[in-house]
Amino acid sequence: MSRTELAIEASSELGIATGLTAETLFEKCNALARNIWWSWQPEVINLFRDLDPIRWRQLDHNPIALLSEFTPERLEMRAAELVLFSRINHAYRRLKEYQTQRAAWAKTHTGVLGSKPVAYFSLEFGVHESIPIYSGGLGVLSGDHIKSASGLGVPLVAIGLFYDQGYFKQRLDETGWQQEEYIDTKVENLPMEPARGPDGKPISIEIATRTGRLLAKVHLMRVGRVRLYLLDSDVKGNSPEDRELTSRLYGGDNRTRIRQELVAGVGGVRALKALGISPGVYHLNEGHSAFATLEAIRERMKDDGMTFDDALRDVAQHTVFTTHTPVPAGHDRFDGGLIEEHLGPLRDELGISFEQLMGLGRVEPKNDHEPFCMTVLGLKLSRRANAVSGLHGHVSRRMWAHLWPWRVEEEIPIGHITNGVHVPSWLAWQMQQLYDRHFAPDWFSRMGNPEVWQAIHDVDPGELWETHHTLKNLLLSFVRRRVSRQCRRRGESEEAVEAARNMLDPNILTIGFARRFATYKRADLILHDLDLLDRIVNDPKRPMQIIFAGKAHPADQPGKELIKRIANLRHDPRFANRIAFIEDYDINVCRHLIQGVDVWLNTPRRPLEASGTSGQKAVLNGALNLSILDGWWAEGYDGYNGFAIGKGRSHVDWSITDRRDAEYLMETLQEEVIPLYYDRDIDGLPRYWIKRMMNSISTLGWRFSSDRMVADYVQHAYLPAAGGTSCDMNFR
Ligand SMILES: *Cc1c(COP(=O)(O)O)cnc(C)c1O
Repeated sequence: MSRTELAIEASSELGIATGLTAETLFEKCNALARNIWWSWQPEVINLFRDLDPIRWRQLDHNPIALLSEFTPERLEMRAAELVLFSRINHAYRRLKEYQTQRAAWAKTHTGVLGSKPVAYFSLEFGVHESIPIYSGGLGVLSGDHIKSASGLGVPLVAIGLFYDQGYFKQRLDETGWQQEEYIDTKVENLPMEPARGPDGKPISIEIATRTGRLLAKVHLMRVGRVRLYLLDSDVKGNSPEDRELTSRLYGGDNRTRIRQELVAGVGGVRALKALGISPGVYHLNEGHSAFATLEAIRERMKDDGMTFDDALRDVAQHTVFTTHTPVPAGHDRFDGGLIEEHLGPLRDELGISFEQLMGLGRVEPKNDHEPFCMTVLGLKLSRRANAVSGLHGHVSRRMWAHLWPWRVEEEIPIGHITNGVHVPSWLAWQMQQLYDRHFAPDWFSRMGNPEVWQAIHDVDPGELWETHHTLKNLLLSFVRRRVSRQCRRRGESEEAVEAARNMLDPNILTIGFARRFATYKRADLILHDLDLLDRIVNDPKRPMQIIFAGKAHPADQPGKELIKRIANLRHDPRFANRIAFIEDYDINVCRHLIQGVDVWLNTPRRPLEASGTSGQKAVLNGALNLSILDGWWAEGYDGYNGFAIGKGRSHVDWSITDRRDAEYLMETLQEEVIPLYYDRDIDGLPRYWIKRMMNSISTLGWRFSSDRMVADYVQHAYLPAAGGTSCDMNFR
């Protein structure tokens, strides 16, 4: 008998022994694939990967797409070869337990939320690379928020839009210019099903405008214990144009934008009603979904017979608003014509005048020249508003002070809850195993707790360094694979492809920089003085290498110029083997980078980075942050847990700030980062560097986790809002 035949024979025996027929095996795998819970379970990820490692990678780590290539019989055969039965059974049992058990934390901490869940609105959700309905930080934050809500057991449902083309895929042409590609997502390969109402029928919603009506269907995605509802305008009955309304994230003009926001906000509240869900709290993650408040007012007037004023007060008491944008130009604004076209019929039902409605979105309600701002609506219609870091809180209070002219700045009612990241999603499996060996056995369910992380100081420095090096090597093979593929796609010479296959060196200090190429993030700060950079990266004893990635918004020409400049450094012999650009930054690229680099570089113009989260992901895996003292780093840095660029000051003239910061950056690299990294003991270990890695993990890991963040939202925002304590924001 061949090995396969033996395996099949063994499998049918095993199958009987464990009660697993081919069909149930197949069903169990599909059940695992249909709850995004799998994406933060290394055990289940490895299971899917083992089924077919090459296809797994080619299919963007999408388990539904992978399983669609298997028949139940082939799956059984493969499972037998790899002895996967007990692993599948075990994973499946854990999923069922997870879904049915109430989280311990929730029992003691979520009190009045009970049967009236939080409705969390966001226009993007980044839960996994195979589900392209996010563009960047805001989406990944929403994804991490709902994953932690699931883990902690917070009663919460999430509402967003389904974009069937998502955000664009990035390719660079031969000149280094960004090309955007929109690809139709195969809906059948996503873990979605029609959302059903109490009667078991798929629900749909309808919104009247002055010029017609908009329809949307609703998909349900399961993210652990949290249900994520995604509205989708691609339905019969909509005009061809409206069927494409929700096809792209951040696509189209201001009219597309307001229509998307109408569907998400007003449509979202209607969808909840159709589902039979009555939320105790509305959480608006950014102003995009703030129209939800107007629909919630309408509901109260209609269902409970409230007056407009009473309903407004009641909705504000139950609404939490999070702002993310520290620059005035970044906020959505619509002119009166667009507002009347889209909210006119709703306004009629509210019984308010056009001026009254516009007033809700204006700083000065009677200023006819002021457009309608979604952030102003969010601030006026929420009981609690917050920024996303301490520094961003200051900036936001100053920026919106004129909404409360009778108050001094400190009393402007915008607080802050600093962002955090979902540890199980961003922590490398190898690093998790190291923590498992040294942390308290229940550390995984207590990761918001500072003491848990202290144990990192007891880890053998060699063991931590070795784990880091394993991850660094994985990153370098990833970069080589991607860059050589990029060369091949552009039709470059065999030598170029071969050079890419061998680029970079695991023994060299490796810096990572990946984020949106918005100008304020200054990806080129490190390129300020190319001769100096040349000397640093090619230092014979203490060299350095840099890996870049990031997308520019399709309309952002300066952002694209920046990408071009960086990507083309590969034609400069001084940098060809020292600087890499990976195309198509997404959750997958981010995960590889933050898990494998030595240093995570962050160079925004202070104070324009509201929080930033990628550096928090890097912390978990032992990378050290080298960052401007902005966003989360302004409160995270303590002098011993990473590196600061500059002293946390900005000049009113950006060109002066940029030059100074560039000098600070090079100084910090030359005087602190590089010497520390190459200072080795007789075992070849950089003792002081490793000590700093440990400081970083112990002081920052718990504090910038999304478990801590969601717990803060529950305590400081959701519970007070659900209790409906009186509104202290008196605008009217
Ligand atoms: C985490 C993450 C971000 C956010 O990073 P910043 O530090 O805010 O720039 C953006 N994009 C992706 C794909 C991410 O995973």
